[in-house]
Amino acid sequence: MGRRSIDPQGDGRRDRGRRLSDKGDGRRPRTRVVTGGRRPEWTQGIVNPPVWRASTHLYESVAELRARGRDTHHKLFYGRRGAPTQWSLAEALTELEPGAAGTFLYPSGVAAIAAALLSMLSPGDELLCTDSAYDPTRSLATGLLKRFGVSTRFYDPLIGGGIAGLIGPQTRAILMESPGSLTFEVQDVPAIVAAAKARGVVTLLDNTWATPLLFPAIEKGVDLTILAGTKYVAGHSDVMIGSVTAALACWDALQETSRQLGQVASPDDAWLAARGLRTMAVRLEAQAASALAIAQWLAAQPEVAQVLHPALPGDPGHALFTRDFLGASALFGVVLKGGDKGRVALLDGLALFGLGYSWGGYESLALPVDPARYRTATKPDFAGPLIRLSIGLEDPADLIADLRAGLDRLRAVEGR
Ligand SMILES: *Cc1c(COP(=O)(O)O)cnc(C)c1O
Repeated sequence: MGRRSIDPQGDGRRDRGRRLSDKGDGRRPRTRVVTGGRRPEWTQGIVNPPVWRASTHLYESVAELRARGRDTHHKLFYGRRGAPTQWSLAEALTELEPGAAGTFLYPSGVAAIAAALLSMLSPGDELLCTDSAYDPTRSLATGLLKRFGVSTRFYDPLIGGGIAGLIGPQTRAILMESPGSLTFEVQDVPAIVAAAKARGVVTLLDNTWATPLLFPAIEKGVDLTILAGTKYVAGHSDVMIGSVTAALACWDALQETSRQLGQVASPDDAWLAARGLRTMAVRLEAQAASALAIAQWLAAQPEVAQVLHPALPGDPGHALFTRDFLGASALFGVVLKGGDKGRVALLDGLALFGLGYSWGGYESLALPVDPARYRTATKPDFAGPLIRLSIGLEDPADLIADLRAGLDRLRAVEGR
């Protein structure tokens, strides 16, 4: 086989003169999940782009080496700039965000959040961060960012357009998470984006709960949208990966900072995540349908004080949710009656729900959540202890039976 018989770089013509997600080919999101990033030069005649595992690319000549240094986009250069496996996944994620300029991949969701923030913030800047943020996001703000001279104010996730009153001369960025992945408040993202745009402030959204399938963030005016691909994209609880998809105005800064930080997602993890992505739409639909049925069932149980699921008509975020989202995913909260003892009894005996961090996999998980421990701007006022459920692909009737037995254990130890 000749050295040039496989050409993963193509001739570069496909890239020229257009931004990746502006294809205008009319394909719907569910189709894009299947077709995205599968360029013939990357798949080489098979269906899935193979795993290109490499640090070193070999050049034919010094002249070629020198020329490549000036143009590395979708060209093999050095392992840290990736290879077709990562380019393909990044392009597929970009294609799910109409209007986006590009996607950078990271070895975890937290790494993605860190790179996105570091690419936008400088010493003296202020970050406005939702008080409902994922707790490692808070640690980043109060730890590393603070050490490098960036201050953070946490804001009430229900603030909406009122965020305009918090934007000061030093405010440079707003980090949203909607719904909050622990307490499920839905934010008025369009109102916050409008207030930010009016003052030249950059908006970032941790969109892991909805994914671009249920909330196309760039189209809604968000500048940088972040996914923990570890969750629904990979979908099988065996990969750590993250991504940031950027609007054009932020794309160059994001790439530059991410490269300076030395960020790279491994080809094996990118390959697994791309494999997961192909079934994400059907997994989300099936898991969301089960989750809603289970949430409705839980809401009717006497041991349950409140179910935190924005697709339920009684949920405080329901109106914003139906206005802005194309559907729900399969992660929600349950406020129990009683105390921690009952909660522990419920969780400890679950047979089908795993007890563990993370979510978004094909299997169901449960977790105790204690938001009062870390929140500072607002005190969540729940009537009892909170648990979080990630609903998987098991038969929902079996999951309900597992939860029924758990509620019986709760009642027994609470002496009711
Ligand atoms: C899990 C999670 C992250 C972090 O992702 P990792 O891949 O675990 O680092 C970020 N945001 C949200 C909302 C998450 O649930």
